[in-house]
Amino acid sequence: MIPATPIRSIALDDLDAPALAEAAVLLRSGGLVAFPTETVYGLGADATNPAAVSRIFAAKGRPPTNPLIVHADGIDLARRCVAEWPKSADLLARRFWPGPLTLVLPRSRIIPDVVTGGRATVGVRVPAVAEARALIARVGRPLAAPSANRSNGISPTRAEHVSQDLNGRIDLILDAGPTAVGLESTVLDLTSDPPRILRPGPITADEIAEALGFPVLPSSPTVAIASPGPAAASPGLMAVHYAPRTPAIRIEPGESPPPSPTGALLAVIVVGGEPRDLSELEPCLRIDLPDPVAASKSLYDALHRCDSSEADRILIRMPPDLPPWVAIRDRLRRATAPAEPGRAPGIRYDREDPRSYR
Ligand code: AMP
Ligand code: MG
Repeated sequence: MIPATPIRSIALDDLDAPALAEAAVLLRSGGLVAFPTETVYGLGADATNPAAVSRIFAAKGRPPTNPLIVHADGIDLARRCVAEWPKSADLLARRFWPGPLTLVLPRSRIIPDVVTGGRATVGVRVPAVAEARALIARVGRPLAAPSANRSNGISPTRAEHVSQDLNGRIDLILDAGPTAVGLESTVLDLTSDPPRILRPGPITADEIAEALGFPVLPSSPTVAIASPGPAAASPGLMAVHYAPRTPAIRIEPGESPPPSPTGALLAVIVVGGEPRDLSELEPCLRIDLPDPVAASKSLYDALHRCDSSEADRILIRMPPDLPPWVAIRDRLRRATAPAEPGRAPGIRYDREDPRSYR
């Protein structure tokens, strides 16, 4: 039998928690520890230890070509992970770190191939949760930390989500309650001129442009990369990602829901809508996420709740196509198939089989 993964609570602002010391010992000896950040829970390993980093890919069932974000406790350690530190990086780091912005830069020699899927670049950021930075400081090395879920599944915003997916596959879970921001970081490629957003997130293109004093290329919803092969510049942009197991479909504001098969139980998530939206439906579970900040914080929890409910399918009413909703629309597109009138969606992938990308 696989031993259960222990979960240790850390109280808010307890930077001397014994659990942090235990986690640091595990990480220094090549172990895997899930820890809270402001975005989602990360699955950490010593980024300078190739064997430890390989264990992340095995535990998640993640394709080896999908690069990991490296987490530092401050600018000094982040700079040791990269070979160049342009003025733009310095400006953005001082403005947005600690915070949900990942900067892609040429990697330094301390970052092994396995972290970046062989790329010459690495994504680095400094997380806003003080306990996460305290953990990195105790380890004394940068931590590679993708979201702490099985590859392609819903990202974890609570320790319970991590445990549901990775119990018995990792060494320890640190629990500091639900994450504050709830969506993965914005990924910005600073090796392109002008810089390009590879993954939209909590920090918007406008905020980055304002800090830099010039515009950046926004992420494009059409840059959907179908396969996780080496050609994919940024695999987080794959068409199917962040998806629940229950078939999920989306409809745009004002669009009518497709007919449900007789007897099918429906869960409904209305994002950026009003209570009267879709009030004609009789779902077994309905979740309303009316404003962008609350929606970002609770979106993955809502998807987890629908996925573990008795519903046979999930219907998501998309938020309007407006700037505050860009990152949320991006994640919802990747979590769903568009509704096709009269057709129930099929299962699109097997989360136990990393080869089953659509
Ligand atoms: P996750 O850690 O699961 O949030 O995923 C990290 C995502 O960040 C990847 O899937 C990529 O989209 C992006 N990323 C990380 N490092 C790089 C890099 N060196 N070049 C391009 N994209 C990157
Ligand atoms: Mg992820």
